[in-house]
This record gives sequence, structure tokens and C-alpha cells, in this order.
Amino acid sequence: MKKPTRVNHPPDVPMPAGNRPLVAPIYQSVKFEFETAEDTERFLHGERAGFFYSRTSNPTTRQLELLLAELQGREDCLVTATGVGVIAQTLLALTKQGDHVLCFVETYNPTRYLIRRLLGRFGVTHTMLSVEDLAGIERALAAQPTRLVLFESPTNPVTKIADIAAITRLAHGAGALAVMDNTFAGFHQHGEFEVDLFLHSLTKYASGAGDVMGGAVIGRTGLVRALRTDFGVLGGALDPHAAFLILRGMKTYFARYRAQTASALRVAEFLAAHTAVARVHYPGLPGHPQHELARRQMQDFGTIVTFDHKGGASAVRRFADQLRYFALAVSLGSTESLLVTSQMMAGRELSAEQQRLSGITEGTVRLSIGLEDVDDLLEDLNQALNASAA
Ligand SMILES: *Cc1c(COP(=O)(O)O)cnc(C)c1O
Repeated sequence: MKKPTRVNHPPDVPMPAGNRPLVAPIYQSVKFEFETAEDTERFLHGERAGFFYSRTSNPTTRQLELLLAELQGREDCLVTATGVGVIAQTLLALTKQGDHVLCFVETYNPTRYLIRRLLGRFGVTHTMLSVEDLAGIERALAAQPTRLVLFESPTNPVTKIADIAAITRLAHGAGALAVMDNTFAGFHQHGEFEVDLFLHSLTKYASGAGDVMGGAVIGRTGLVRALRTDFGVLGGALDPHAAFLILRGMKTYFARYRAQTASALRVAEFLAAHTAVARVHYPGLPGHPQHELARRQMQDFGTIVTFDHKGGASAVRRFADQLRYFALAVSLGSTESLLVTSQMMAGRELSAEQQRLSGITEGTVRLSIGLEDVDDLLEDLNQALNASAA
């Protein structure tokens, strides 16, 4: 073997039997081969297991899929390069021309765009209601055949709680799939409900470090198998290195989610008592209009605390500039605390009535609570509120 050949066929280092790494290696390989042409053909005909091309499957991304499916209490999972990617691919794989989709004004902006604009271009119609409007949901489902109902809980940013049992029952009664973006609640919650497909952005709580993006769809075997072929050609596969980073993040998922949730409750209680604050939205507060429903559905109320500043948009700007430990940045679920102002939450395509239902006001601020010492966070919020109220 000449050296230019050797560098392309480096020495094999097989792991000795009975000896393995504690952390699975990253299978940073696009291609996989079988020993023989016959085995390759058997794989391609579905007669033997294996890996072939990383756009459709890879052992590192598969390890992440199996972990997430188990945490969410379902059989199977597909991971993608971003959260929005998994939502887009799932919607494209599930719908066809003439289908109708039910969605909500409180839904993540890019998801609404995907349904209104992208699916709309392909002849998929939609109805958009408030997630609290159960009577409206029942009427909409009775009015026309519906392919799927897509909802979130807690909603972004004002943490409304969707009645998951009621929505899934109404969806199934009308022959529609219940699809839930469960990013805010995480992988350990809501699994006991009859949700057909859970969607997650792995960019948030899964990685935790805010240094990698990903998405996941989780559900029963038959449904996920039906998605798999379309996902392969839509092409938004997660890179194995990103999957490895997310797997590493998942090891501290429970510790982070629970510590950040405990700090979020302290922040919510502090804000509720502050004179510059008109209203706090946090499902863990007894004053939250759906606190009882949240307690029935959730064990951990999450790390997002939203509030309305009494001073409106200009006071919010002063408040944001005054904070030392909260970064003025989108996303959530990272170890750093973050804030987003209402001016940053574009909802401009909504009608005035839909805008009102979304619950966002001029003074709305969304906080994502990180892993900093909570006393530092409270002190920081206090000085910034006092300075901005003046
Ligand atoms: C962030 C987010 C997404 C999109 O995820 P990306 O990884 O940023 O593409 C989808 N849904 C919700 C609820 C989110 O918060």
C-alpha cells in the first residue's frame, strides 16, 4: 500500500472484546459499508439491519432518538438539524392538498408562518383559534374534516396552559392527529396524554449549553415509520457531532430543568410582589389563571417567566439595558438567563383580535431563567426594575 493509499485507509483499531468506552464514540461518517455485495443488497431490500448513509440513519443520531423516545414515553423518534426543521418536515410529511389544519394564535411564530404561508401555497387550509377556546375547537372540528391539531403548552410567551386531555379527545373524536410542540415542558412531561406526535426543539433544554441546534419528533412506531421516508428526502438530518453534543447535554437535563425551574418560581414570586410589575405569567404561581390545570398536567412548571412592565415599551427598553446578568437574546433553556421584549416578539401578521388573544402587550417581557445564583438574578431584576420605573 503506497502512502497516498494509506492515508485513505488508516489502520483499524478494533475494540477488544469486553472493553468499551463509557461514552459512545461519535460515528462521524457519512457512509457505512457491509462485508459483501450480497449483504449490501440484503440491506437495501430491508432483509438485514444496518447503517448505510447518514442522511437517513447513523448510530450516534440513533442513540439520541432512542433516548428521547424513552424519556417522552413513546416508541420511536426522528431527529433533525433544527426545531423548525422538524416542524416543517412533519407538516409536509403529514399533509396534502385539500387538507385542513387547526392551529393557535399562541403558537411559535415560525410554526404559524409554516402553516399559513408554506402549507397554504400547497393548498392546505387552516383555522387559527385561541388554545383556550375549547368550544371553538369543537366547532371547527365539526365544521370540516381536519388532518391535525397542532398546539403547545405552556404557550410562548405568556405561558397559557392547553387542556391536553380535552384537545386530544376532541381531535381524535374528529379523526384528526393531535400534534404537540412540547419544547417548553420538556421530554419528561405530558407523555401520559394521548398525543400522537410530540415535537421538540433540541436547541433549548436538550443541549442546555446554547451551542448546538436540533429538533425531534416522537411518537408510536407506525406513525414515525411513515415519516421516516419523507424525512430522508427532505434532507434536514441532524449531524452526528451535534447529536453527540446533545446526548452530552441530556446527561444534565433533569438537574438543569429542575434547578432552573426552582429559580424561575423564586423570580416569579419576586416579580409578583414588585410595584413596577403589572402582571406575572408563570404557571407555578397560584395566581396564574390556569394554575390548577397546570398542577394536574405538569410536575415542573418550566423556566420561562413572563411579566408585563407597568411602564410600557420605553420602560422595558430601559429595564433591558439596565440588566447585567440577563442577555437580550432569543431562545431559552440555556444555562445563561435571557430576556426577550415584546418589541422583539414579532406577531405583526396577526389581526388586532388575534393580537389581543396572544396576550402580548407593549410592556411584556419574557425571561428565560438560567443556572446563575438566584439571589444574583433577583438583585439584578430589582435594580433594573427600580431604575426603569423611575
Ligand atoms: C425554539 C422553538 C422552536 C424552534 O426550534 P429551533 O431549534 O430554534 O429551530 C419550535 N418551537 C418552540 C416552542 C420553540 O421554543
